[in-house]
Amino acid sequence: VIYLDNGATTRVDDAVVAAMQRYFLDTFANAASLHRPGVEAARGVRFARETFAGLLDVTPQEIVFTSGGTEADVLAVRGVALLRRPPANVVCSAVEHPAVLDSCRSLEAEGYEVRIAPVDETGRVRPDDLFALVDERTVLVSVMHANNEIGTLQPIREIGRRLKARYPDVRFHVDAVQSFLKAPLSVHDAGVDLLSLSSHKIHGPKGAGLLWVRDGVRLRPLFFGGGQQRGVRPGTENVPGIVGFAEAARLGAATRAEDTARMAALRDALLARVRERIPDTSLNGHPTERLCNNVNINFHGCRAELLLHHLEAEGVVASSGSACHSAESEPSHVLKAVGVTQDRGSLRLTLSRHTTAADIDGAVAALEKVVPVVRDLSRGAGRGAGARR
Ligand code: PLP
Repeated sequence: VIYLDNGATTRVDDAVVAAMQRYFLDTFANAASLHRPGVEAARGVRFARETFAGLLDVTPQEIVFTSGGTEADVLAVRGVALLRRPPANVVCSAVEHPAVLDSCRSLEAEGYEVRIAPVDETGRVRPDDLFALVDERTVLVSVMHANNEIGTLQPIREIGRRLKARYPDVRFHVDAVQSFLKAPLSVHDAGVDLLSLSSHKIHGPKGAGLLWVRDGVRLRPLFFGGGQQRGVRPGTENVPGIVGFAEAARLGAATRAEDTARMAALRDALLARVRERIPDTSLNGHPTERLCNNVNINFHGCRAELLLHHLEAEGVVASSGSACHSAESEPSHVLKAVGVTQDRGSLRLTLSRHTTAADIDGAVAALEKVVPVVRDLSRGAGRGAGARR
């Protein structure tokens, strides 16, 4: 199988599995236990915390481990907002991950106002549009670094700097789940207060993630229980998951420059060859300000679900929009936000550092073969639907 769905999840690295195994089989004690095996397990967590602190240029105490990117996003949005009573508002972009968008919407029922900044046709937030929504009652601004569907990178540094210059007390949350180790971001330079990461997008295990919380930023916890992680995120630590996440990050950081350059070259080759060989396509997202591993192409006149099935029959797996939306046939909120309303032929092809030139050759050959077939079928399906109506 040619796996081009790395935006949904990645294969866990062998070295990550090896690092985790010890914490399943030998050092399996509870990291809160005071006996020696417990102290050993706690050392694994501490080492992981220090690894992330080094990679993000922050302090270890600022790292809160979570069950993944979703929990980190929800903790950031609700955790910040609920410390201030309404009237108050939160501001986010129209293309945020549902973990952020739905967390914001959940606050509406509790009396908060949600203000959503539009994006341009490439999926970029225009900072002026966003700042038109921010005022003295804003508690949080949340803008993702890279979009999970179309790969567009947001002007985080500009947004953060302007926000901190004008509203220093408004918290700035960035979901960097897709961009971590793929696009550079300095939380200090960009005035970020909270940053979400997830393990399974970087060849680590599923079910692990973190929220970096700048020292001094207070949060209302989502959970209650034991006092782990200083009560901000209580619950027995997922030691193997945390250790595996840190090992994946360490490995990824060691080869980051080569990996991102190689992925970007393969991404560009994939796009160029699709454009050369298949008529009537367009790129969704930004032409240059995009993730090094993301190509999202609209194959005009194709039904995305048919395209996916035919591609899979040729041994290529990809996705239409984000994994979370794959069961839906409507364009996702992201595609709608960039103006794709009718055509459903958008395919997301996402690479990883394991993707090879041969994978790209195979994917292009498969697309060349199936797109004309799917276009014919989609026309038939369209007529059928019309006749029924
Ligand atoms: N944020 C973004 C941008 C994502 O792409 C994802 C995963 O699809 C998440 C958050 C959620 O992360 P997790 O799957 O670890 O809950």
